[in-house]
Amino acid sequence: MTRRRLTLLGATGSIGDSTLDVVARHPDRFEVVALAAHRNAGKLLELCRRHRPRVAALHDAGRAGELARALAAEGIATRVVAGQAGLCEVASLPEVDTVLAAIVGAAGLPSSLAAAAAGKRILLANKEALVIGGALFIEAVQAGGATLLPIDSEHNAVYQCLPSPYARNPADAGIRRILLTASGGPFFARTDVDFDRVTPDEACAHPNWSMGRKISVDSATMMNKGLEVIEAHWLFGADVDRIEVVIHPQSVVHSLVEYVDGSVLAQLGHPDMRTPIAQALAAPERIESGAAALDLAQLSLLSFARPDRERFPCLDLAYDALRADAGAPIALNAANEVAVDAFLAGRARFTDIPRACRAVLARRSVTRIAHIDDALAADAEARMIAGSELGLPSRSGASLAAGAGVMQ
Ligand code: NAD
Ligand code: MG
Repeated sequence: MTRRRLTLLGATGSIGDSTLDVVARHPDRFEVVALAAHRNAGKLLELCRRHRPRVAALHDAGRAGELARALAAEGIATRVVAGQAGLCEVASLPEVDTVLAAIVGAAGLPSSLAAAAAGKRILLANKEALVIGGALFIEAVQAGGATLLPIDSEHNAVYQCLPSPYARNPADAGIRRILLTASGGPFFARTDVDFDRVTPDEACAHPNWSMGRKISVDSATMMNKGLEVIEAHWLFGADVDRIEVVIHPQSVVHSLVEYVDGSVLAQLGHPDMRTPIAQALAAPERIESGAAALDLAQLSLLSFARPDRERFPCLDLAYDALRADAGAPIALNAANEVAVDAFLAGRARFTDIPRACRAVLARRSVTRIAHIDDALAADAEARMIAGSELGLPSRSGASLAAGAGVMQ
């Protein structure tokens, strides 16, 4: 049994909670070396009391100071670091072998790249980092000798249905299609919804999963599935035409891989993120996750349908972006982050999300991405255009390059 030493980026979020729940079940297997978050010093203090990491990082320097004082007052020896530099430091600590990347949004890219350069096992929940990083992220993983394992439930399911080893080439592996399942979100079955009047709480009321607010809105617009198509493209080296989306409202079949001989392999389980987290944490071994066992006889129905691309235009925006050029997915992601942030803050309507994304894709100019600075430029430009499309004050479009975080 290998004892793994972990850094958890995004420790105070929904994936952070699920990860620490799994880890706490196996103190013999995992040591929490570092915990990182945005600005919630109170929750990080609580986590430091319980898990006693050697290092804690907060993006917000003021809150990091508060945390350091509170830890010192309690005699807890955890060292505190701050800012994007602090996040990158904990992602590349020499004593750490595994980095669980669960920051939400583009803000997670620099620390994920630092983990890649340092050759870590990266357990990736932060899909936006891969959507923006694209080929550069994959190259950084390969150059650093790192390993990338998906936590996103669909990609983890695909990963479990692939041959091992898998050389990122579907044709060589006899794969015809990758089928990503989508619940359809809270509005799939409701034909009476007036999308202009949807409130943040309605959009966040996901039928099967309890998640952070940004990904919950992405699920309601189906942008989440669009981002996941782009994520699958990079993770599995699959052409866009080989990746399909199928609606499956029960969220029990987490995704499927179809082979040329007609075999279709699927991974099933309760919709509980502790399953993919435990799979990736322990791979190739298997450990208890705390997720309930699946009782097939109790499931009365597993149903599948085609996505409604008219009502949920974000899905095709993502397909179009992936087909366009390397700048397009970055612009789409940035526009979506700005619009979702504005929607959650009550400054934009639900329907403004696809509208802003479409406008940004039409107006942007950065299309060639040869260096990470190009990606940052594409991200910054898209945030600016999205902010102006939505009539937001200029600060709301603050760029990743300027170190802005999204949400929380
Ligand atoms: P969440 O909002 O619950 O938590 C986000 C975490 O990121 C928090 O710990 C927050 O402090 C941290 N964070 C935000 N901005 C930061 C910044 N600038 N610097 C440092 N830390 C920052 O979100 P979540 O639901 O846990 O999702 C996290 C990621 O995992 C997202 O990319 C999401 O798409 C992905 N994901 C989540 C789920 C799920 O079930 N929640 C499933 C699949 C994928
Ligand atoms: Mg998912």
